[in-house]
Amino acid sequence: MINILRKILYTGTVTERYDAASPAPRARGAVMVQASACTDCRRCAAACPVGAITRQDDHLTIDYNTCIFCGHCVEQCEHGGIKQSGEYRLASLAGQLAEPAGQGLRHRILSVLGRSLQIRHVDAGSCNACDFEMNALSNPLYDLQQYGIDFVASPRHADMLMVTGVVTRNLTQALLMTYEAVPKPKLVMAVGACAAGGATFGQTYAIRGAVNDLVPVDIYVPGCPPKPQALLHGLLLALDRLSER
Ligand code: SF4
Ligand code: SF4
Repeated sequence: MINILRKILYTGTVTERYDAASPAPRARGAVMVQASACTDCRRCAAACPVGAITRQDDHLTIDYNTCIFCGHCVEQCEHGGIKQSGEYRLASLAGQLAEPAGQGLRHRILSVLGRSLQIRHVDAGSCNACDFEMNALSNPLYDLQQYGIDFVASPRHADMLMVTGVVTRNLTQALLMTYEAVPKPKLVMAVGACAAGGATFGQTYAIRGAVNDLVPVDIYVPGCPPKPQALLHGLLLALDRLSER
């Protein structure tokens, strides 16, 4: 017993507060267009492996649902027209970037649901990197349970479906059946560039598309893979959407 107490005192608190989280020094966050430096040479768009850069209304636009934050566009631009930031709070409702959602996740879960938020995860065909980040939410550092959020085994017990990976032909039925099994009002969160954008692996016989091509998506969390903090930011937005229903 004394050894356990000594260990607790020695280790201290490892759990990170969501609002205190800062990106790791080498984290690849959102790429941002620097309009004043852009010469419209379009080399960045040509280098983008997923076609995330387009020109709209006389300026470059980046589709964050599709972008994998690889940084090729940044390397191609000699004029500093695109810069990579550490920004990870990119979750969006209906395709628009949301403002940082702030604090109080646990309080908001209780005020919206009056109990915990239960999530059922479906891997529709990911490379598993998104799944590893999602699993990290339950480790002592991020400690998802501190907010009153947990993963459940049965979709019948879930409030939200969290989907990773582009939807593959073999897992389409599993996704549709799981979606149908979640009771209303249900939320769907598309996690990562594959689930949100569907373009990461191109068009093949095995791929059906982004999650939104099969079931309606409420929250998009960009990234390849998104950081655990980015997932927490998406969960905050999800609660806003749930409170509207
Ligand atoms: S970071 Fe990569 S995927 Fe994203 S816009 Fe640039 S080249 Fe495309
Ligand atoms: S978004 Fe990236 S990390 Fe996530 S499943 Fe697709 S390839 Fe893997």
